Amino acid sequence: MQIHNFNPGPSYISKFVIEKSIEGIKNYNNSGLSVLEISHRSSAFLNIIEQAKELSLALTGLDNKNYSALFLQGGASTQFLMTAINFLKTKAGYINTGSWSEKAIKEAKNIGTIEEISSSKDKNFSYIPETPTIDSSLDYLHLTSNNTIFGTQYNKFPATTIPLFADMSSDILCRELDYSKFDLVYAGAQKNLGIAGTTLVIIKNELLEKINTAIPSILSYKDHVEKDSLLNTPPVFPIYVSLLTLQWIKEQGGVKEIEKRNREKAELLYNEIDTNPLFNGFANEKDRSLMNVTFTLADEKHEQKFQSLCDEYNINGVKGHRSVGGYRASIYNALSIESVETLVDCMQKLKQSI
Ligand SMILES: *Cc1c(COP(=O)(O)O)cnc(C)c1O
Repeated sequence: MQIHNFNPGPSYISKFVIEKSIEGIKNYNNSGLSVLEISHRSSAFLNIIEQAKELSLALTGLDNKNYSALFLQGGASTQFLMTAINFLKTKAGYINTGSWSEKAIKEAKNIGTIEEISSSKDKNFSYIPETPTIDSSLDYLHLTSNNTIFGTQYNKFPATTIPLFADMSSDILCRELDYSKFDLVYAGAQKNLGIAGTTLVIIKNELLEKINTAIPSILSYKDHVEKDSLLNTPPVFPIYVSLLTLQWIKEQGGVKEIEKRNREKAELLYNEIDTNPLFNGFANEKDRSLMNVTFTLADEKHEQKFQSLCDEYNINGVKGHRSVGGYRASIYNALSIESVETLVDCMQKLKQSI
């Protein structure tokens, strides 16, 4: 039975990645060892992490001379702290577009002073705010490229003269982007890059010279880069799954092809939301996310009926986050258009049945 998995993260994993993961667990590359039991110092693992770093840079269009890729632990949430502890000296700028931005701000405030540059809190984070001119004395500007809970996403990033940092946990590699605009990006793997347990960080090498001194080595980007992501035992299996996911993206035709499919999927679903009178979109139209589609029922009395139709169509994980209510369909890279078509059929069926 096929389940259509719209969960926000951990989320749908392609069959290719699942099958290859199983193979690797049973017998990695015909070595007679499971990927679960190989040493992180073995040539087998060094090969895995090297390829994963190389592919991350290749797919983001960045070169390995000016940028370093790291696979760290502690989730994107640890990056809220790490970005600040490494680079916050006097004052840093933060854009507040929802819960994840707020969490990043909260962590940074434990380290130093922050300025909230702009916010969309006034309308429950349903839009992406304009960015005012940014004070060039700030240490960096931090933003969340895609707001997983509210379903908004940046289309155009602010131009800055200060280092630009982005939490891309829920939209990394979902579209072609000039990644060289960013000085540091990070993404927990469990949405577009595999499973929970590792976080991709891409950092411009120039930035390593600006790192605050006397910070714990496990939190220092410089120490991680110098030790090639092997400062301590890395999460071997999650990194392997990320490598398989990156290989899958490449095999599909790269980010260009992934973007094309993502746009088709999103268009299909938003079109249904806009034309079906039983549903309303949550996010401001021009800021709608390609990854997390948020919507509500025009009349809550249809809730039970919609839920039982979703069950009937094997649709899983569309319940919205408690702070927005309604529904959220997470349609990350790996999710097929067939799953989105099924959700659209289900929404049409609700209309017909009323
Ligand atoms: C899921 C998510 C996080 C949290 O990631 P963890 O790996 O659980 O710490 C942070 N930021 C964004 C934008 C997310 O979508």
